[in-house]
Amino acid sequence: MKIKCPRCKKSADLSPDFSLVSCAECDLEMSYGEYVKYVAHNDVTYSDILGDYAGSAATQAGSTLDEWD
Ligand SMILES: [Zn+2]
Repeated sequence: MKIKCPRCKKSADLSPDFSLVSCAECDLEMSYGEYVKYVAHNDVTYSDILGDYAGSAATQAGSTLDEWD
């Protein structure tokens, strides 16, 4: 099924058994558990990006990734 990629905000694929999230746009690949934690961790920023996607979303996503560890 299609889900929103947490990295590039485009369309990512969730495998039918919910085991793997993969995105062809940015080569993201992580387990669904990691995906959930990733989205939860970035929830505030994620919402901000969605609410102001026309802005500097790419720059914000980049800095978010740098801070995520
Ligand atoms: Zn992506």
